[in-house]
Formats: sequence, C-alpha cells, structure tokens
Amino acid sequence: MKIYRVPPGKKVSLRDYDAGDTSLVKGGKKEGEARLVKLSARLEELQDLLYAGHQHKLLMVLQGMDTAGKDGAIRKVFDSMDPLGIRIASFKVPTEYELDRDFLWRVHQQVPGKGEFTIFNRSHYEDVLVVRVHDVVPKKVWRERYDQINEFEKLLADTGTTIVKFFLHIDRDEQKERLQARLDDPTKRWKFRKGDLDDRKRWNEYQAAYEDVLSKTSTKWAPWYVVPANAKWYRNVVIAQVLVDTLEGLGLKYPKAEEDLDSVQIE
Ligand code: AMP
Ligand code: MG
Repeated sequence: MKIYRVPPGKKVSLRDYDAGDTSLVKGGKKEGEARLVKLSARLEELQDLLYAGHQHKLLMVLQGMDTAGKDGAIRKVFDSMDPLGIRIASFKVPTEYELDRDFLWRVHQQVPGKGEFTIFNRSHYEDVLVVRVHDVVPKKVWRERYDQINEFEKLLADTGTTIVKFFLHIDRDEQKERLQARLDDPTKRWKFRKGDLDDRKRWNEYQAAYEDVLSKTSTKWAPWYVVPANAKWYRNVVIAQVLVDTLEGLGLKYPKAEEDLDSVQIE
C-alpha cells in the first residue's frame, strides 16, 4: 500500500494518480471482497487489543469530494466491528459558536483518547478546502493553516496518537454517474443537494486545493494516502489494509491479567 502513501514534501499532482486503479488486487472484485472479509476480521482483533492496552490512540481522517464514498467506506470497512470499538466524528458547517473560536477548537475535542479509535468523517481539512474554494476567509488566513495543522497533528502524535489520513480519489466522470444515481433512486434522492452541483462546477479548484493539502500536510507523523476510489471494493480494501498494517506496526499486546487467576474458583 506504500504506493498510495504521499512522501513528506512531495509535490502532488492528482493527474498522476489513476482513480480507477485496482492493480494491487490481481483477481478483481471477487478477490477484493474476499480479502476485505479477512481484513475486517483482523481489524476487529486489533481494535480489541488497542482498547485493552489503553495506551495508543488511533485517528483516521477521511476526506473526498461529494460522492467519493466517505460514508460508504465507513459502513463497509467497519461493518463487522464491535460498535463499541470505534467512534465517528462528522464535521459539518461550523456553528456560530464554533466560528467564534479558532478552527481547531472543535476538532481537538473529538480526538481519540487512550485505547480509542476515532474516525473523522471530514475534518479540519475542510478549513483549507471548502473554506478556500468558497473564499470564506481571506487567503492570508487559510494559508497559515497548513503549518498550524501540521503542528496540531504533531502534538497529537507526540502524545501517543497514530494518525492516518485518506483522500478518496474519484474522477469527474465517476462523480457524474454517482450524482445521477442519487437523482434517479428515490431512496437516495434525499442526499442530493443542489449545492453539490456548485461544488462540481469548481472541480478544478477543489482538485488544486486537495493537491496543496497533500503536498503540504503529508508528514512522517501523519501521512496521507491517495486511495483510488472509483471502484468501491478496491477503495475498501486499500483502507482496511492500511489500517491493519498501521495497527500491526504498533506491536499491541494484551495487558497482563491480575496475578494468581489460575487458583480462582467461581462459585
Ligand atoms: P456532508 O458531509 O455531506 O454531510 O456535508 C457536510 C458539509 O459541511 C459539507 O458541504 C462540508 O463542506 C461542510 N463543512 C464541513 N466542515 C466545514 C468547515 N470547516 N467550513 C465550512 N463548511 C464545512
Ligand atoms: Mg454531501
């Protein structure tokens, strides 16, 4: 999965990343789905270890254009997981109260504690994405935020948080199909917002904003992965594999039980 990790300092051009790539799973969708089942089971074990150990913290950041599959990925990758094991924090348009404070204020409150695994469904990156594309704050404000974000994530990393960040990469044609599917399906229509079309018109501006995010904020302590996301099954496999590799890298172990449990008799 290293091929999808953005090396620190690399100048990213999204044109170099094929959103339809499925090259690491030779057997295609069938093999991919079988692999996901195994990876999900392993994730569940690792999450249990993480919780039991009560030391490490895991933060996963999910970003992507509308319809890129943020919600779908969460649903599929974690569907066999203990619901007590993960917490999802979704970031929407900030409230007035939040806007009266610095942009990281609301985010900091949602970070994982010891033994926790937290997923950010959207994140502080919106403050250099939608906020930049829609001129919500002046450039001189948002351009400082890349450093501020790196420092913030460094603080989290230094205090025991492992951070992985996923950009779900779809192309413009794929988005068209998915938006159309939302319009056509009465059970999905509620998700359709006319405002999404406005964002679609600014596709190139968003891609440029994402390129800056990937180029400026992929660090040793909080790497970005560009996940090929046109094929949903492949997107799920990449995310699950990166998480399994990351958690396995922590060398998690169950804590020692109390002494002399062998002699315990339960009446
Ligand atoms: P959804 O994820 O589809 O439920 O939509 C959430 C909306 O909130 C998206 O349109 C985001 O762009 C928007 N949003 C999230 N964070 C921010 C932010 N910091 N500033 C402005 N808009 C935001
Ligand atoms: Mg939306």
